[in-house]
Amino acid sequence: MDLIINEIFYSLQGETTTAGFPSLFIRLAGCNLNCSYCDTVYSRDSSSGKKMSIKDIIVTASSYKYIHHITITGGEPLMQDNSIFLMDDLIAAGYNIQLETNGSFSLKNVPARVKKIVDVKTPSCGNGKSFLMENLNYLNSTDELKFVILDTEDYNFSVDFIKKNIHSKNLVINFSPVTDNISEASLAAMIINDNLPVRLNLQLHKILWPKGEPGSHQEIR
Ligand code: SF4
Repeated sequence: MDLIINEIFYSLQGETTTAGFPSLFIRLAGCNLNCSYCDTVYSRDSSSGKKMSIKDIIVTASSYKYIHHITITGGEPLMQDNSIFLMDDLIAAGYNIQLETNGSFSLKNVPARVKKIVDVKTPSCGNGKSFLMENLNYLNSTDELKFVILDTEDYNFSVDFIKKNIHSKNLVINFSPVTDNISEASLAAMIINDNLPVRLNLQLHKILWPKGEPGSHQEIR
């Protein structure tokens, strides 16, 4: 059973409540969206990756010592149906798995033990209506939503979405600023002033390595 893999590398998780923890990143190639602020454009095309069997991916993961946490990311991982089997097999091999997905594919078959980080795309990215609303039914208390905020329209869209659709107090909701357009402090002030139950999500990797992460990925070994 194969997948198209763009890169596998070891780094720190930069976002969400697991930010700061080391993680092995398995980036699947190909994406169905084309967000204006995409910072992994190099992975959006399926031809950007190489075919690997699930068995080989797990052998590769095991070649990294002391890995406790694996992030499955993209591109859009759920574009490839076999990503579900990869998650199943990684769990069976004893890893904690975090899935980063753009929210436009069904989460129905994602294994329950996977922590899901699910984007709700905002208007400025150009894919503002891509979120699959049924996915709200598949979120549990360990999962997180993420809204990337570029401007006031995105902010208002996100607040409105939360008020209308999120009824669980346990779900972590991340507001992530596109810092070229809206500063971290500005978004923080808006969250405080509006008394929102959301988390300011900063991209730790961009703070640590503003000129790009060491080695800049692709490692696979
Ligand atoms: S969903 Fe992610 S990988 Fe795809 S275009 Fe948007 S930011 Fe880039």
